[in-house]
Amino acid sequence: MTSDLREPAAARDPDSARKNGDAWQDDVRAGVRHVRDLASLPLSPAEREAAQEAAAAHKVRVPKPYLDLIDWNDPDDPIRAQVIPSPDELIIAEGELDDPIGDHAFSPAPRLTHRHADRVLLFPTYQCAVYCRFCFRKESLTSIGRGYTREALEPALAYIVGHPEIREVILTGGDPLSLPDKALAEIRAHLEAIPHLRLLRIHTRVPVALPSRITAGMVDALQGRLMVSVVTHFNHPRELTAEAEAACRAMRQVGFVLLNQSVLLKGVNDKVEVLEELCRELMYRLGVKPYYLHHGDLARGMAHRRTTIAEGQALVAELRRRLSGICNPTYVIDLPDGGGKVPLAASHIESRDGGTWRIRGQDGEAREYREVVAGLSEPHL
Ligand SMILES: *Cc1c(COP(=O)(O)O)cnc(C)c1O
Ligand code: SF4
Repeated sequence: MTSDLREPAAARDPDSARKNGDAWQDDVRAGVRHVRDLASLPLSPAEREAAQEAAAAHKVRVPKPYLDLIDWNDPDDPIRAQVIPSPDELIIAEGELDDPIGDHAFSPAPRLTHRHADRVLLFPTYQCAVYCRFCFRKESLTSIGRGYTREALEPALAYIVGHPEIREVILTGGDPLSLPDKALAEIRAHLEAIPHLRLLRIHTRVPVALPSRITAGMVDALQGRLMVSVVTHFNHPRELTAEAEAACRAMRQVGFVLLNQSVLLKGVNDKVEVLEELCRELMYRLGVKPYYLHHGDLARGMAHRRTTIAEGQALVAELRRRLSGICNPTYVIDLPDGGGKVPLAASHIESRDGGTWRIRGQDGEAREYREVVAGLSEPHL
């Protein structure tokens, strides 16, 4: 996609585009940057009408490579559904929340969330390369709207220094990879100087929406003492382009551990064939391990994209039958009020009598399983 702007498709080479470290800036410029840029797109009258109001609640931004994936002839196109404002977004259902996963209650310093002892979320920026309509943090992206400065992170960094139980820092936001290389190198240097930190994790949609941004310079900026894990956010197999593949290869080649989290979205990826292809090709072609499949959280205006939990359970049960263990993500819900991410897959345990369990196999047949543990005698508790 990157080089479509300058070269014929036949000359396209995602790897050389990636080495040309500035190509991504063209991709940003040629994409949708403001709601007014939607005017040139073939939107439906209803979409056009909703755009202004929807954009007031959650910004509109789509880099060119992602925009090019949309099939404009299909009103239900799964790529379009993720980035083009819809009139349905304006319907706020009862029970939807501003802060669906309770980030704010666990924020001991600005730009930091500390809910689990050993890891924190750090928000270096509240801006993204692409704005997803279903974003669970859209309220903070809209109301805060601040970018990166070193000063803004200082209280959060001081907090991490004072908490030796923290081993893992998760850069999220906003999209950390929307920052310049220099900012990334600076953040990485600050973090690796904190002796108790072991791993730097980055949650990002850049490899999906703006893969040209994964340059040699960016990969360099992130390398140092800490183990690096990049958690991508692919939701649909059509997002697995040659350019995304090249971006993931560049990160794998320097030893970053690549994982993916998807959000289960009605009309986007709530078909078993779609999830199956997504998870299989992520692992086998991109070398990205499916990590989480998130149940759609209670972000405002997203009732039209949410499935029921029972639908999600049926999908992941079938996925488990069709794909190997390493291709399977864990289906989770991030509970409101800071309950954290908990697995949702239906239990295979049917009953228990002491040390005798009835457990349903993948074929649906229940089997008896007797525990054999040294030092324990019947009756088990
Ligand atoms: C999701 C999340 C994490 C990371 O959880 P993992 O299960 O380790 O991926 C950490 N802190 C908060 C507040 C989170 O929401
Ligand atoms: S990239 Fe992530 S933080 Fe940004 S809008 Fe999309 S889901 Fe939200």
